[in-house]
Amino acid sequence: MTDSFIPYGRQSIDRTDIDAVVEVMQSEWLTTGPVVERFEQALADFVGTEHAVAVSSGTAALHASMFACGIGPGDEVIVPPLTFVATANAVVYQGGSPVFVDVQEGSLLLDPDLVEKKVTSKTRAVIAVDYAGQPCDYQKLRAICDRHGLFLIADSCHSLGGCFQGKPCGTLADLTAFSFHPVKPLTSGEGGMVVTGNADFAERARRFRNHGITTDHRQRQEQATWHYEMIDLGFNYRLTDIHSALGLSQLGKLERWLAQRRNIVKLYEKYLEPIGQVRLLKQHSNRQSGWHLLVIRVAGGRRDDLFQQLRTEGIGANVHYGLVYRHPFYRNSFQIPEGTCPIAEQAEREILSLPLFPDLQEEDVRRVCMTIRNFFSEAWENGAQR
Ligand SMILES: *Cc1c(COP(=O)(O)O)cnc(C)c1O
Repeated sequence: MTDSFIPYGRQSIDRTDIDAVVEVMQSEWLTTGPVVERFEQALADFVGTEHAVAVSSGTAALHASMFACGIGPGDEVIVPPLTFVATANAVVYQGGSPVFVDVQEGSLLLDPDLVEKKVTSKTRAVIAVDYAGQPCDYQKLRAICDRHGLFLIADSCHSLGGCFQGKPCGTLADLTAFSFHPVKPLTSGEGGMVVTGNADFAERARRFRNHGITTDHRQRQEQATWHYEMIDLGFNYRLTDIHSALGLSQLGKLERWLAQRRNIVKLYEKYLEPIGQVRLLKQHSNRQSGWHLLVIRVAGGRRDDLFQQLRTEGIGANVHYGLVYRHPFYRNSFQIPEGTCPIAEQAEREILSLPLFPDLQEEDVRRVCMTIRNFFSEAWENGAQR
């Protein structure tokens, strides 16, 4: 693959994935059928939790989670600013207000001590984001949420397959959202899942994905009835059987991909170690990352130049993320002042995501790291000549 463009993330699709999708397309049920349930059960088993509700995206999973715990107008939900906009949008969809709390310096994960300081009488929930794949400190977050009667939601769109103190992501919060977008740990094209140990939350999420209606099409067909009732205002967030077949087929390969991602990260550690101007994020010893993103911090104000250089060399570096509250919508709607989250604001200027996906080859990692090394040594030589 060397010489061609290397993206920062990419799906792995094989013949069995394609066959699984084709099989559904030739079957009776394209949506709301038995493969959705099989995917849900397989994911619940993989994670080790009771309930899984398949939805059309990770965003829908977050929205359904906000609905399930009853977030509404006037409610505050604590979120980190260093995340994809969907995390905070899910709060806003329900009429709630996101309250941005800073991240920890080394890992860039939501800082539990700062969370507790931002709890008010209006706070109802905390959404923890497992940034880059590393789980947050769910022990501390759980204790804070219990002390103040808050719901704990995990945005684990990066961390399927990760663990905190030996417990898998998906079992660490009241509700967990996963995404199956192509760059995520496994893909269904688009798709997501809400997982929970709470039957009531699961039922609410299940209704929410189908307009707030109590039964689905297949249940009514099996019961030979036309009658249904809509009891909440839900959405059409259903996942099709076609997408579910792909996700289910992919799930069987996730453990192998996690091992491949871990090995690629080890190569990055080896090749980046001698380059003093970049460093990797801190990994806590009591956690296993899902290794979604390979994020480096670039010193000396050189991030944007290095980004350009990598792109010139055909390497799909990226930045995850521009802070949520600096987007025009949030600036205009919530007026969050600069300096609200200083650690995230500093990180936003220094972070760079390098290519990381299961099929990435060692020669590709070497090419990425050589480009970074040459960038800094040329900069040094140019500086020395002047
Ligand atoms: C991808 C992602 C989402 C949204 O998932 P979609 O499936 O793209 O809707 C939400 N939060 C985080 C942290 C993500 O990375």
